Amino acid sequence: MPELGASKELWLEAVFLRENIDGVQYELWHHVHGCRLWLIVARNTINHEISSVKLAHHGIGRILEAEETGILSDEDYLP
Ligand SMILES: [Zn+2]
Repeated sequence: MPELGASKELWLEAVFLRENIDGVQYELWHHVHGCRLWLIVARNTINHEISSVKLAHHGIGRILEAEETGILSDEDYLP
């Protein structure tokens, strides 16, 4: 994704204009009706097989773990 101050043209291309890949592509999914996490999903466009799912925010695992232990500081939310 472009920087926040990038031109409208760059944002238009990044958000709406996608390659139509024939095979595995990486997609950003938002689990709106579940845990509400953002996920990076590797999906094969030919057969819809999903080969990997990762949390989009690399620090979220640390945050979830810290919330479980009840030991949480502002630094836990830093990327
Ligand atoms: Zn979920």
